[in-house]
Amino acid sequence: MAESAHTKVLILGGGFGGVYTAMALEKLFKKDNSLEIGLISNENYLVFQPMLPEVISGSIGILDVITPIRRLCPRTNLYTREVESIDLKNRVVTTSSGFRPLPYQLTYDHLVIALGNITNFSGQPGLLEHALPFKYLGDGLVIRNHIIHALEEADIEKEAEVRRALLTFVVAGGGFSGVEAVAELNDFVRAGSRSFRNINAQEIRVVLLHAGPLILPELPETLARFAQNLLQRRGVEIRLNTLLEGATAEYALLKGGEKIFTKTLISTVPSAPNPLVAALLCKKERGRIVVNEFLEVPDYPGVWALGDCAAVPDYKTGQPSPPTAQHAIREARCLAHNILANIQGTTKKRFVFDALGKMGALGHHSAVAEVFGFKLSGFLAWLMWRFIYLMKLPGLDRKIRVATDWFLDLILPPDIVQLKAERAPGIGRAHFEAGEIIFREGDKGDRLYIVVDGQVEVVKGETVLGQLGPGECFGEMALVSDSPRNATVKSRSSVNVLTVDREAFHALFTHLPPLRKLFEQIMEERLKAPMQ
Ligand SMILES: Cc1cc2nc3c(=O)[nH]c(=O)nc-3n(C[C@H](O)[C@H](O)[C@H](O)COP(=O)(O)OP(=O)(O)OC[C@H]3O[C@@H](n4cnc5c(N)ncnc54)[C@H](O)[C@@H]3O)c2cc1C
Repeated sequence: MAESAHTKVLILGGGFGGVYTAMALEKLFKKDNSLEIGLISNENYLVFQPMLPEVISGSIGILDVITPIRRLCPRTNLYTREVESIDLKNRVVTTSSGFRPLPYQLTYDHLVIALGNITNFSGQPGLLEHALPFKYLGDGLVIRNHIIHALEEADIEKEAEVRRALLTFVVAGGGFSGVEAVAELNDFVRAGSRSFRNINAQEIRVVLLHAGPLILPELPETLARFAQNLLQRRGVEIRLNTLLEGATAEYALLKGGEKIFTKTLISTVPSAPNPLVAALLCKKERGRIVVNEFLEVPDYPGVWALGDCAAVPDYKTGQPSPPTAQHAIREARCLAHNILANIQGTTKKRFVFDALGKMGALGHHSAVAEVFGFKLSGFLAWLMWRFIYLMKLPGLDRKIRVATDWFLDLILPPDIVQLKAERAPGIGRAHFEAGEIIFREGDKGDRLYIVVDGQVEVVKGETVLGQLGPGECFGEMALVSDSPRNATVKSRSSVNVLTVDREAFHALFTHLPPLRKLFEQIMEERLKAPMQ
């Protein structure tokens, strides 16, 4: 990289990899303003995922496991946007639009890719529709609300079979996140059920499905066995060597044809590469970007990658580092050092890191841990788990909040408030006063509009192409052709409209032939007598 007055580092992803890279760069460059750091993330906070399972039970408040990125890296320009595409050849990243539907592009001298991976249910019929993923903060909240909803319904359900399904909770995945989730869920439903007049805790069934012969394959056998026995003693039914094959609204379908009737299915597997990473032409290993020991992407000077989305070789072992937060944090420090070395022409560091250990919480004041080769289980491991993660949680205010949550959780009953925060996806409403611009020529086609009442006019340059009123729609052309708006639409009077977003429109357009026919007809007529 050539030295310049301003070197632009652009980081993609606001997880451990991205945020800790920004923090390390800020520290290394201190008051040196020659480095401009930008970070794009679809959320403006960092999620402390190791504590996410406790959001399910409510023993930690939802906002206490997240830290605003702006506080962690105050010198970094944060773009809270969705990355839409990465053009490595022209060194340009395109993000989603904000309130105004305009495409937004950022250039860079150094690009740091830290986009993590995603939950992918494709190949398992019905999971997308009926299983709850567990990876992001929102997932924790959705699962929590869903569980409380199931308890509410079971309390008033008269039909025995439906009641049994409502009180059956299934978690698929016996790795760390699945085991921690099932432990929290089990504690929560059993303790929470005491507040429901018609639920007997004996009726509750919590099932963990695991593909292998023993849960927690990441841990030594003795610890994994300890965890397995403990969960079983607490009433978790563990189904080993069992694969989840699909789901419907009524049941989880296991390989071999067995059905478990349930209204709550949580799946922590499988994960897949982020589609943006999958679309890159650079070399990959099992979907992860191949980088060298300095975390550089070969053949793309100035491009770096780390965290779950990268196959980072450990210099000592040559093996790719496991996808964990502790590795992402160490990789971030090494990567920031190497960007500095690249700019200053000094020596780069090879990535090497001996993991400190592995820990998993099992609920009810117990955990399992292997730290510096020592194995611990039970209460002592739980105390250590809490202490270490509290120390690692970024931000003093968050540490205080979580410590308070934990203390209150010891003395108060579980909170069973169900928050109903969902909005109908895809369809919205908007109101415009006379003379307002609804969208401009050149804007991105992000939604379809249907006039409920009032009048709008379609304008191209100075020419008014036409007027539309109640029951008529506009904005479909740009959605169908995936091109910018070819005209401006203004409100002539006070107008109320329904809006259908791009995803919902495409789903209906693709799968409902009569609707597709209708839109094709509308577009044909408009092309003959041009309108938007
Ligand atoms: C429930 C759970 C528990 C875990 N527990 C532990 C643990 O105890 N110890 C441990 O070491 N590890 C744990 N992990 C693993 C650890 O969280 C990950 O290894 C770590 O988060 C990886 O960091 P990352 O930055 O590579 O990816 P991520 O943390 O996934 O970050 C990716 C970032 O990119 C953003 N992003 C993705 N796509 C886009 C886009 N198109 N536009 C804009 N932004 C985008 C995401 O919003 C996110 O901010 C756990 C994971 C989970 C899910």
